[in-house]
Amino acid sequence: MQTLEVAEPGPEEVLVRVVASGICQTDVHARDGFSPIPLPAVFGHEGAGIVERVGVAVGSLAPGDHVIMANPSCGKCADCRAGFETYCTDAAALKHSGYRAGCASLAFSHGNAPVYGSFFQQSSFASLTLAMARNTIKVPREAPLDVLAAFPCGVNTGAGAVLNVLKPQPGDSYVAFGVGTVGFAGLLAAKLSGCDPIIAVDLFESRLALAQSLGATHAVHAEHPELAAEVRRLAGGRGARFCLEAAGFPQALRNAVESLAPRGTACLVGSARAGVEVSLEMRSLQQGRVVRGCVQGESDVQRFLPRLIELYRAGELPVDRLVRHYPHAAINDAVDDMVAGKTIKAVLRVGAQ
Ligand SMILES: [Zn+2]
Ligand SMILES: [Zn+2]
Repeated sequence: MQTLEVAEPGPEEVLVRVVASGICQTDVHARDGFSPIPLPAVFGHEGAGIVERVGVAVGSLAPGDHVIMANPSCGKCADCRAGFETYCTDAAALKHSGYRAGCASLAFSHGNAPVYGSFFQQSSFASLTLAMARNTIKVPREAPLDVLAAFPCGVNTGAGAVLNVLKPQPGDSYVAFGVGTVGFAGLLAAKLSGCDPIIAVDLFESRLALAQSLGATHAVHAEHPELAAEVRRLAGGRGARFCLEAAGFPQALRNAVESLAPRGTACLVGSARAGVEVSLEMRSLQQGRVVRGCVQGESDVQRFLPRLIELYRAGELPVDRLVRHYPHAAINDAVDDMVAGKTIKAVLRVGAQ
């Protein structure tokens, strides 16, 4: 833990006092050097907090607003204008350059030494941080910020893949390969969509048990010797209409593809490190099967995240069942538990000891 100085918000930025932050696999990838961001850097990309100050051009937010900080985008490039902001041309720089939007200045300093940040334009492991107004979303004051911190990346990614990309109909079969936060969010969205059966696949028995208590009709251990055949059998014989690969393992993607029914779709959302390859039997793509990926649930965060929060508040998206809280200073324990599968969604109470 270090004390840093934070810059004043630029015209389109907000200064946020962070109350809670989710921890995601991408933070761990960055810690381990699998991100281009220079070091030392402040990570964290699922911040929830209270606006402290706003830049001169910010009209949508005011001090005291409760907010979550979500996936950043420029709003000006062709993909953003087409409504696909998660594929923004500037996404890589906005997430991983270490600099504020425009790449000219840093959010933090430590005396004269540079400290890189603006991770996903938020660096939410800091108790006071800068975000762009564009990726900062106002949330209802009654909603607990230490649960909403699960939404900006993990819940958005899984629920968005189902509700924005796969768009299942009632009665469609659905398989979750991997039930961490993203896989669980997808599973909850599939249940909300009326999917049946819903099959959960994971390495951890505790997660499979929770999946069954939250809507999975079947659970299969990921090391089942005939995994794809078993999933196809449970999905009615010909295979599954939809599979979500949220494990980030080549074998899981291969099994997802082999579990599909004709015309079924497997969508990859798992976070694999650069250079990881998958092999598929070419024959498995015949029969109209589709394999695709998506980033951050392909969501328009200013519209989609408030919708998910409403579903959570109505009891239809029980994200609180996935969350375990840790004090800010216990960040390393939280990461260890997450990597070991002992917790599904680790949320730091930022600033709390
Ligand atoms: Zn993430
Ligand atoms: Zn853009």
